[in-house]
Amino acid sequence: MPRILITGAAGFLGSHLCDRFIKEGYQVIGMDNLLTGSLDNIQHLFPLPEFEYYNHDVSKFVHVPGELDYILHFASPASPIDYLKMPIQTLKVGALGTHNLLGLALAKKARILVASTSEVYGDPLIHPQPEEYWGNVNPVGPRGVYDEAKRFMEAITMAYHNAHQVDTRIIRIFNTYGPRMRVNDGRVLPAFFSQAIRGEGLTVFGDGSQTRSFCYVDDLVEGIYRLLKSDYSSPVNIGNPDEITIKGFGEEVLALVGNPAAKLIYKDLPVDDPKVRKPDITKARSILGWEPKVSREEGLKKTYEYFKGVVKTE
Ligand code: UDP
Repeated sequence: MPRILITGAAGFLGSHLCDRFIKEGYQVIGMDNLLTGSLDNIQHLFPLPEFEYYNHDVSKFVHVPGELDYILHFASPASPIDYLKMPIQTLKVGALGTHNLLGLALAKKARILVASTSEVYGDPLIHPQPEEYWGNVNPVGPRGVYDEAKRFMEAITMAYHNAHQVDTRIIRIFNTYGPRMRVNDGRVLPAFFSQAIRGEGLTVFGDGSQTRSFCYVDDLVEGIYRLLKSDYSSPVNIGNPDEITIKGFGEEVLALVGNPAAKLIYKDLPVDDPKVRKPDITKARSILGWEPKVSREEGLKKTYEYFKGVVKTE
């Protein structure tokens, strides 16, 4: 049985990755410090003999007994309001946490895949964004703590690859959604769904003309799985290139939820909010044979089912 360590295991993506690797026949070691994750996401795995859980902050030295074949580093606050509230933890998990896990990969001779982000492109001046684009990031702006931590993550990962021949993979994840997103994490999809279900105003920031491109979580997990199994060590974008304005997205959520009390309302645009975002997935297509399969219509329906169960209406 191959053994895999997944950091951020109690988070949105980490918990889906635990499910997938257990299904593929792996021994899964989940690690989290529950700063933004929740044990609710992995409660169903605790009875399984092929799952172990460690409550640990990976920005401190990481010890895992026994052999390890793979490491997936997915621990990090990941929504703009989370990293605004926790700037130091965000920098530490992306920088010190990645350093610790690369050291662990070296010691265990494990392959490591690190979760980078479309935020490395900042407020992009090239659209859509190919991996060759170096980005337009404000290092001292409010989002800089996340963007620069992830850029450092990529740099130190390549350094360990080149200097120590560690077997590394880097994924750049674009906006992803699905069940287990935290209701109050402040990101646009949980915000809009919870507001629509409660019959409140959907808070569109700015005039809503900024764009994003949303990928359903099952598609993302498939992309991660394929990248891990590939022999490609440069960064690869994984995301859904189907781009929509935030206002248009709000209208889709309103139509799906159908609550007559809900409507769009407008709030100030956050500082350094990227105006456009859409992945160029030429590399994922050619190297991994991957492309998204789940349409936004289908993915939003599945996600709505989840939010109906977890959003409190009183
Ligand atoms: N947004 C919004 N209303 C909200 C939350 C976010 O209009 O309640 C906008 C935000 O300004 C951004 C986009 O939706 O342009 C996506 O924001 P999110 O926080 O989901 O993640 P980002 O893609 O910015 O990292």
